[in-house]
Amino acid sequence: MSMPSIAIVGGGAAGLTAAIHAARLGATVTVFEKNDHPARKLRITGKGRCNVTNHCTRDVFFANITGNARFLYAAWERFSSEDTEAFFEELGVPLKVERGNRVFPVSDKATDVVDALVRECRRLGVRIRHATVKGLIIESAVATGVMLPTGEERFDAVIVTTGGLSYPRTGSTGDGLAFAREAGLAVTPTVPSLVPLVEDGRFCASVQGLSLRNVRLTALDTKTGKTVFSDFGEMLFTHYGLSGPLVLSASAHLADMTAGRYELRIDLKPALDEKTLDTRLLSDFAKYQNKDFANALSDLLPQKLIAPLIALSGIDPRKKVNAITREERQMLLALLKALPVRIRGFRPIDEAIVTKGGVALSEITPSTMGAKRIKSLYFAGEVLDLDAYTGGFNLQIAFSTAVVAGESAACALNS
Ligand SMILES: Cc1cc2nc3c(=O)[nH]c(=O)nc-3n(C[C@H](O)[C@H](O)[C@H](O)COP(=O)(O)OP(=O)(O)OC[C@H]3O[C@@H](n4cnc5c(N)ncnc54)[C@H](O)[C@@H]3O)c2cc1C
Repeated sequence: MSMPSIAIVGGGAAGLTAAIHAARLGATVTVFEKNDHPARKLRITGKGRCNVTNHCTRDVFFANITGNARFLYAAWERFSSEDTEAFFEELGVPLKVERGNRVFPVSDKATDVVDALVRECRRLGVRIRHATVKGLIIESAVATGVMLPTGEERFDAVIVTTGGLSYPRTGSTGDGLAFAREAGLAVTPTVPSLVPLVEDGRFCASVQGLSLRNVRLTALDTKTGKTVFSDFGEMLFTHYGLSGPLVLSASAHLADMTAGRYELRIDLKPALDEKTLDTRLLSDFAKYQNKDFANALSDLLPQKLIAPLIALSGIDPRKKVNAITREERQMLLALLKALPVRIRGFRPIDEAIVTKGGVALSEITPSTMGAKRIKSLYFAGEVLDLDAYTGGFNLQIAFSTAVVAGESAACALNS
């Protein structure tokens, strides 16, 4: 009896993981990867260190999924972050847990993660073929193969793991979304998530290159008056606006990007409450009482920020510090605790860490990752309408859904 054959379209995090789990159940697996090397995106994750997962509880995992979390209940049951950790340790990649429970290889090398997946694929006899899949073959609502530049090839089942639309130079160009549409499946609108933000103004450009650690960023929805995000961390001013981990996280909470809808506020001194900060200002002002105001803030702020902040305050930079009024000091205090930045949009999707939107989850059975209306067709990873915050959660989505897809495809064929 010949083994059931499975085609996996896309050799990224989800594709290689699905391949391993299908092959472990005895399926004959072929991974089609359009690049010369598999998992190009995985190689650049976590700044080249690969934050493979988050060492967290079930509740924390689901709290970090930005929508549609319920869909992942069964996948998490089958393959949780604990399983991801055990999986990579078994594959010979020792892991360590860092701040925020982020899990990285001890070696700090994302390539070790990729190499381990490829090595295990080889050990199991998975074929990795470097070819671009042009389309799926679907006959009478059954997936029966893939279309390649060289012609059609038949398989017993097909798993689509082509990723989203971000960082297209890694190979993720949304091909799977087109395949799903061609197959008649609904695809929800795709927008960037975990993406830098474009300022509606010139403040950020005036301090471009400045990186701030330990600030609090708050995003206010001016339409509802509600705070949609507030957290501590690191951020970066750029020529177009704001970037850095804190800003990427905030972006996942912003939806309608009509100019002026969101106002970001940066607390430059989150460790000091207003009273303590005022005392600190009074002490600095006493120290520099005979200096110009422009020269009185260097103990408190990075040099690059001083002139633009003073310009925002409206206080004359040449005014002597001992002439600064109480109201002026209060104005400065307000800016230090809530520096406003108006946002008018996201940077383009190709600069996003993940794509929000994708193959509609209503089309997919959560316990198998199989398409409800097309037999023998499965989806896993970022091609699905699933995304999460930073911290290793997006790769965990890829791994959990891939294990389920790989095993379901192999089991369905064996039964
Ligand atoms: C800069 C950056 C850093 C990140 N860091 C982290 C991190 O540290 N932790 C974390 O959890 N998440 C991180 N992410 C997100 C994470 O990388 C993705 O969510 C994850 O890679 C998705 O896996 P995937 O297998 O679904 O898709 P991808 O990794 O995008 O893989 C899809 C693969 O399919 C191939 N492909 C596409 N179309 C075809 C076709 N027609 N034929 C053949 N092959 C095709 C592509 O070439 C690609 O190799 C990061 C993302 C970026 C951009």
